[in-house]
Amino acid sequence: MPEASPRVLPVQAEVVPLGRVNQVACAVAAAHIKALLGLSSQVVQAAPEPDFAYLPVRGQHDAAALMDYLAKRRPSGVIRVGVTEADLCLPVFTFVFGEARLGGGVAVASLHRLWEGRYGRSAPRSLAYRRLAKVVCHETGHALGLEHCQELGCLMRFAGGLTTLDRLKMWFCPACAGELSARRAEPFSV
Ligand SMILES: [Zn+2]
Ligand SMILES: [Zn+2]
Repeated sequence: MPEASPRVLPVQAEVVPLGRVNQVACAVAAAHIKALLGLSSQVVQAAPEPDFAYLPVRGQHDAAALMDYLAKRRPSGVIRVGVTEADLCLPVFTFVFGEARLGGGVAVASLHRLWEGRYGRSAPRSLAYRRLAKVVCHETGHALGLEHCQELGCLMRFAGGLTTLDRLKMWFCPACAGELSARRAEPFSV
C-alpha cells in the first residue's frame, strides 16, 4: 500500500486582540489579510491585557514578549497576529509599528502611533484603520517567511515612520505576491 501523504492544511490567520482593542480596527485588519494575502482570517477572542510585557523603564510594551506569548498558544498551520493599543518597542528600536518572527507564524502590531494626524490632531479613523491593515499585512508576510522588498509602494517595504507607511499602497508587488502564493501552497512547517 502506498504511504499516505501528509495532510496539507491551508494556512489560516487569526487576529488576536491583546486586551481591550478597537474592534473595528481588528476586523479591518482581518479582512485585509484575507483580501491581500489570500488566507482565511478571523478575529478571535481577546487575550487578557498584556501587562506582563510592560517595561516600566521605557513606558512601552516589549514586542518580543508578546510574540512569545502568541507562539505558545499557536496551533500548527495558524498564523497568530496580535493587535494592541499599547506602544511597542524592541531593545534596538525606540518604537515599532509591528514585528514578526520570520517564517515563525507569529506577529504583533500596535495601533498606538497610527492615530497620529497632522498638526497635533488625531488621524481620521479610516486612516488609522488603513495604516493598521498595512502593518498587519506586512508583518503577516514576515510571519509566512517573506523578507523586506525594495519595490516602491510594496507592502513588504520597510516603513519606519508614518510618512513612509502612508506612501505604501495596499498592494504586494508581483515578486512578493508570487512568493506569498508559493508559501500559502506549502505545508506550513513551523
Ligand atoms: Zn518588516
Ligand atoms: Zn514586494
